[in-house]
Amino acid sequence: MNPEFIRTICPYCGTGCGLVLKVENGRAAASYPDRENPVSKGSLCVKGWVAHEFVHHPERLTAPLLRRGDAFVEIPWEEAIGLAARKLRETAEKYGPDSVGGLSSAKCTNEENYLFQKLIRAAFRTNNVDHCARLCHVATTAGMLQTLGSGAMTNSISDLAGADCILFIGSNAAESHPVLMGAVYRALDRGAAVFVIDPRKTPVARNARRLLRLNPGTDIPLLAGMMRHIVDSGLHAKDFIEKRTENFEALRTFLAAWPLDKAASETGIGEATIREVAETYAKAENAAIVYCMGITQHACGVANVIAICDLAMLCGHVGKPFSGIYPLRGQNNVQGACDMGALPSLYPGYQAVSDPAVREKFQKAWKSELPDTPGKTVTELIDAAGKDIRALYIMAENPCISDPDVNHVMEALKRLDFLVVQDIFLTETAKFAHLVLPGACFAEKTGTYTNTERRFQLLHKAVDPPGGAKGDFEILCLMGKALGLPFDYASPAEVMSEYANLVPAYAGICFDRLERVGLQWPCPDENHPGTRFLHGTTFTRGLGRFVVPDYTPPMEKPDAEYPYYLNTGRVFAHYHTGTMTRRSPFLNREIEDPYVEIHPDDAASLGVGPGDWIRVTSRRGSIVTTARISDRVVQGSIFAPFHFTEARANMLTNPALDPVCKTPEYKVCAVKLEKDHEAKAR
Ligand code: SF4
Repeated sequence: MNPEFIRTICPYCGTGCGLVLKVENGRAAASYPDRENPVSKGSLCVKGWVAHEFVHHPERLTAPLLRRGDAFVEIPWEEAIGLAARKLRETAEKYGPDSVGGLSSAKCTNEENYLFQKLIRAAFRTNNVDHCARLCHVATTAGMLQTLGSGAMTNSISDLAGADCILFIGSNAAESHPVLMGAVYRALDRGAAVFVIDPRKTPVARNARRLLRLNPGTDIPLLAGMMRHIVDSGLHAKDFIEKRTENFEALRTFLAAWPLDKAASETGIGEATIREVAETYAKAENAAIVYCMGITQHACGVANVIAICDLAMLCGHVGKPFSGIYPLRGQNNVQGACDMGALPSLYPGYQAVSDPAVREKFQKAWKSELPDTPGKTVTELIDAAGKDIRALYIMAENPCISDPDVNHVMEALKRLDFLVVQDIFLTETAKFAHLVLPGACFAEKTGTYTNTERRFQLLHKAVDPPGGAKGDFEILCLMGKALGLPFDYASPAEVMSEYANLVPAYAGICFDRLERVGLQWPCPDENHPGTRFLHGTTFTRGLGRFVVPDYTPPMEKPDAEYPYYLNTGRVFAHYHTGTMTRRSPFLNREIEDPYVEIHPDDAASLGVGPGDWIRVTSRRGSIVTTARISDRVVQGSIFAPFHFTEARANMLTNPALDPVCKTPEYKVCAVKLEKDHEAKAR
């Protein structure tokens, strides 16, 4: 049989590259770049080129699994759905609606996320639904909503190519979003000034005019120092501030406390460098700020985002092409999962559950009574497991790798009366489940993802799920019907037309319009072409609002017992909890084992050489891993990728939360290091 070539979207990062799957004999045999995709334009990074490799992995789940003691036994679908629905319903009846919760998934489609949050809300009358955006970019949503009125990337990826100055703050895009860097390289070819602000010398810094290795967690002092210098020098956009914004005087008062010398001493960056970056950004005709989890994963993550928005408004670098603010979404559909309301305080389209008119609209549409109080977040659901929370439904999330302080997570999951996990592999989290439902991967489903630039893009089903596994859309429809909901959807397109009717910004989006180039929201009617950049003539909230960013230093600093800073993040060959990439032979050959980066001087003082085993211990846990000696980290700091189950960096991380968005402070905690002579023998 001749091979078929099916256009779809990469399942990994939020760039949303188009790929073409080659299908031979019912199997995904190869991945190729899609030349017509408007985001990637014929490029893929190494992960995209081998995206097919995990699809037919022998460890894929092929039948529902029921726990019997320490083992699982296969059961038929009818029994599995009936059991899951009965257990969840009985829990809600016995302990109250808020005793049940659900984790939706940034790896699943928009339509699946919409159905999941609707199921939790409508079937159990609770808003206890969240997903892993809580662990990465909810700070962006919270910070941008306050300042700009929309929590999304203001511009399009391609706009970066036209920027004259680009600030990267806490973003290792060269490894985490490699194809997006193509637009940055085009800007560099035009002579753009690129500055990288990061304690670690990431590959993005290779082409930067300057790398600012600030002290961990001092982004606000740096941004405040820059803004103070811009205002003192009269470089702020006075006309823009006057006509387009409010509350500037409050920011000016805040900046009075941040003279350059104070910013320099707090951040460890010289005054001349702060001046240079501030002036280059302010004077550029078009300037962009790209940031990622180095900004959001702090106990002051929302304030960090606010400070970035303040800086962009201060210089008038928002609301026009080639400028703006670029929060890079980590997972393929984390933007879409947020957009679809997989959040405890917001319905689809960021409509507040506490707004009576909004709630009324959703009650009418869903023919269901809905609660008006926000539900629990990811971290709150875990903390309450076995106490207020008695049953959890987790779809394609793996908190036993991704959440901070995973020892605490595993203990919490054990306390649940009932845990049902829907996933494609028996993940570290699924191993704690009472019931496991085998779902489908990107190559086996039709639907949409929304990438980091707000672009809805179509996935086309290329192959069938393995054995008795089912698509998540089908599983959710079965679950909804078993719980008495009218989940008789004929297709994901029908789900889209339901949510497009409930969210004005998606009203013009339908499957028929998404072939080839997709559509960027807002797209308010069927003739609207989609929106390349936001806040053009007016901010989404009307006037842009300067908000004073509350600076909180890192919650845990090195001391005599734990003398090193730990920073965590991604590496180019792996993705998130490693569920898929670590089952890709090619990617595993690239990076097979866990490691930490340690500065040469620290390694020498500990007597550690390249490849030696070391034990890393924080106040929460301990891992044994290998050492990579590298000046990518500064003396006194180490870096650990978080993808590896055999040395989980999140055993160590601090669950201290941002008080507004409840995102944990993954990026900074204190650890000690010991050479481990016995590790190999063990
Ligand atoms: Fe996939 Fe992201 Fe790589 Fe593009 S840049 S191929 S979306 S992992």
